[in-house]
Amino acid sequence: MMKRRVDIVGGGLAGLLAAIELSRGGAQVVVWESASEFGGRARTRDVDGFLFNRGPHALYCNGALKRELDRLGIAYSGGRSLSGTRKAIAEGKLHNLPTTFGSIVRTSLFGLRDKISYTRVFKTVMDGASGNGSFADWLDDQHLSPIVRSTIEAMGRLSSYANGSTAVSARALLDQIRLTTGGTIYVDGGWISLVNGLVTTARSMGVELNEKAAVRQVSCVAGGVELILGNGATRFADAVVLAVGPRDAAALAPEIPSLMEEAREARPVRANTLDLAMRHWPSQANDFALGIDSPFYLSVHSGSAKLAPDGGVLVHIAKYLPIGEEPSKEAVEELETVADLVMPGWRELEVSRQKLRGMVVSNALPRWDRPRADVTVSGASGLFIAGDWVGQEGMIADAAAASAIKAAQSALHWLSR
Ligand SMILES: Cc1cc2nc3c(=O)[nH]c(=O)nc-3n(C[C@H](O)[C@H](O)[C@H](O)COP(=O)(O)OP(=O)(O)OC[C@H]3O[C@@H](n4cnc5c(N)ncnc54)[C@H](O)[C@@H]3O)c2cc1C
Repeated sequence: MMKRRVDIVGGGLAGLLAAIELSRGGAQVVVWESASEFGGRARTRDVDGFLFNRGPHALYCNGALKRELDRLGIAYSGGRSLSGTRKAIAEGKLHNLPTTFGSIVRTSLFGLRDKISYTRVFKTVMDGASGNGSFADWLDDQHLSPIVRSTIEAMGRLSSYANGSTAVSARALLDQIRLTTGGTIYVDGGWISLVNGLVTTARSMGVELNEKAAVRQVSCVAGGVELILGNGATRFADAVVLAVGPRDAAALAPEIPSLMEEAREARPVRANTLDLAMRHWPSQANDFALGIDSPFYLSVHSGSAKLAPDGGVLVHIAKYLPIGEEPSKEAVEELETVADLVMPGWRELEVSRQKLRGMVVSNALPRWDRPRADVTVSGASGLFIAGDWVGQEGMIADAAAASAIKAAQSALHWLSR
């Protein structure tokens, strides 16, 4: 029997994972990527041996991306995030971040009554707490002091990048906090190592990979799906997976109302980031800090993974932007001020930097009042979607990975009908 043809639009993590899964299922797969390289937001830039991901990227040990990479036998290496003294930033001062029993006892962030309350609520989270409403609703029910509530919200931001307690689903965020306590890995060589592993695997399985090849339009027609490429050529596939963001998906298939609606309803999670390459580590510096009353993050990923030349250091600083907020003009200065507080002396040691303002970390926050889109597109037979805005499992790249596998399996099932 002739192999069924499946085209994939988008060669980021979701598109590449879907391509491999479809190929394993016996389909003849072609991937179309508009950029000059595969990987999308998981790409890494090499500047004189410093490997800049698109902002801080951590692979969750218990997440769907690691699970699928391991299942497909895609090799990578890296190190667990450092377990040194982690700092909390509150009212412009540094305190110990309360993550372990010892650090809760020692922290100057709050007094005894709040330490007991924080320990209780953290245990509630770890025991499997859930909620049907927003994370803010769940926090209201815990009756916490303002500082304990802010600390739990900061843990939520750290695990998900999401800065919007009233919008995010309590269930999704509490699951994500628990998932993060399973640890994270900073990947040697940057996330491009994961992308290269996927590209090599896809090629070895006979997937046709096209870069610098945009798709302009996708339409469902009798017996399959028609694609119009950037160069005007038309082709036909038995099924198509759109592994792009919701706005790109809606623009590609404008006649499908459900995609338009997903694009309208998606609340992107965004961040400003400043990645600093330094000659060496400044003495007196702290290697990790999390804002409690301000949505900031600083971490030295090169402490655990090969991301810098010998002796060099790569530091990531980020601001979790409130949902719906545009980055301000002072985005970079704000991040530099965090660096001044956490690692004084860095300015003399900087060799290069990468600034990203309003970068989309995840195309859609998991909302409490609306489920994320399903991998099947209603009103569009043969069309499937994947990405960090699709499906009910996980957040950020884990959602991209989980939905990619599910989209591929749904497409295979649909083709075998
Ligand atoms: C600052 C930052 C920090 C992050 N940190 C983490 C983290 O710590 N942990 C984590 O799990 N995740 C993290 N993420 C999220 C992670 O990078 C993304 O969820 C993941 O890379 C998304 O993959 P994707 O394939 O769904 O989308 P994308 O990577 O966006 O890929 C979509 C691809 O489609 C292509 N495309 C679009 N339109 C077309 C078209 N018409 N024709 C052809 N190609 C097209 C694009 O060029 C792109 O390559 C972070 C992201 C950012 C920005």
